[in-house]
Amino acid sequence: MSESLELFDVTIIGGGPAGMYTAFYSGMRDLKTKLIEAQNELGGFLHTYPEKMIWDVGGIPQMRCDKLIAWLEQQARTFDPTLVFNQKIVGVVKQEDGNFLLTSTTGEQHLSRTVIVTVGRGITQIQKLDIQGADRYEVTNLHYTIQELVSFRGKRVLISGGGNSAVDWANELTSIGAEVIVIHRRDQFKAMEKHVADMMATADVRTPYFVSQLNGQGETIHSVTITHAETGETEVLDVDAVVVNHGYTSDYGPIAEWGIELGEWAINVSNRLATNVPGIFAAGDCVHYDSKVRLIAGTFTDAVLALNSAKLYMEPEADQYAYVSSHNVRFKERNKQLHIASIKA
Ligand SMILES: Cc1cc2nc3c(=O)[nH]c(=O)nc-3n(C[C@H](O)[C@H](O)[C@H](O)COP(=O)(O)OP(=O)(O)OC[C@H]3O[C@@H](n4cnc5c(N)ncnc54)[C@H](O)[C@@H]3O)c2cc1C
Repeated sequence: MSESLELFDVTIIGGGPAGMYTAFYSGMRDLKTKLIEAQNELGGFLHTYPEKMIWDVGGIPQMRCDKLIAWLEQQARTFDPTLVFNQKIVGVVKQEDGNFLLTSTTGEQHLSRTVIVTVGRGITQIQKLDIQGADRYEVTNLHYTIQELVSFRGKRVLISGGGNSAVDWANELTSIGAEVIVIHRRDQFKAMEKHVADMMATADVRTPYFVSQLNGQGETIHSVTITHAETGETEVLDVDAVVVNHGYTSDYGPIAEWGIELGEWAINVSNRLATNVPGIFAAGDCVHYDSKVRLIAGTFTDAVLALNSAKLYMEPEADQYAYVSSHNVRFKERNKQLHIASIKA
């Protein structure tokens, strides 16, 4: 059956920053590339903090995360890779001829000479409030991520959570003029000390409490019942919006069944980003090696190393890495167009 499938040189599993940059660099090396993403869009974990400013990507002094996603996607599309959405890869099997047969949850299959795993934290799911019927408020004023900060200006917002996200949002919301109440079921916050101190100074912080009931009319919450975690006492607070930051669950699914060696946290790779399975490489947050940096910037280096390893696996005589982009003939025509456009502007 796999004979009828189109064979790709490189198939990338996961469309976060690591997968997107791998797709770009794969084009730099003239490889026939496919990227498969479980969600319906590229961006990966960055979609959980679209309004945050990113300051630590080289060459970009600062940029809103949603804009960075758009730029990464534009770059990923430079060499027109084949992009597949809404397919979670569940099976990767090396066939007798050395090619890999990938199977997704939809039952569709893909054929590739090499595979680059860029699954980040795996399939992440937001930890939602465990309150029956809470989902009906998600269309109005129950939020698990903040998409548009300014829409909270002047509002009374209850934040539930005790980690970095809850504390950061408390500080950002107070800074734009929202009245913020933070509740957390423990007395200690797991966030940067300075940020916790800022929050304590500006928000109404109540511990140890948890949300026990959302009181609403139709699809809108108008108050929240909170319960003291030790005494069981309850209190009702009027609110305009509720933000829940209870973290994420992540699931690597059946990666171990692909024969890939997993360490405690991630896929063990060599300093060339090779897994223990010849032909399968990995990059980004899903890998572990000494000195691994779990940052967007770290995913770029991983992507280049993994892709170069894939290229050399297929063509042992190939150059170690792609010719620099500033002198690369692939960009000659595009550069000409860009120069003409800048002269006209
Ligand atoms: C709150 C927070 C703030 C952060 N802020 C910054 C910051 O300011 N600067 C910075 O540099 N870094 C920051 N990071 C880290 C940054 O988000 C990660 O380093 C980066 O997202 C890792 O990219 P990735 O491509 O490896 O993985 P991800 O972004 O996790 O992408 C993995 C993709 O793979 C897909 N996938 C998973 N399994 C499968 C499968 N089986 N089949 C198909 N697709 C699959 C997922 O759907 C996802 O789209 C932050 C992280 C957090 C949690």
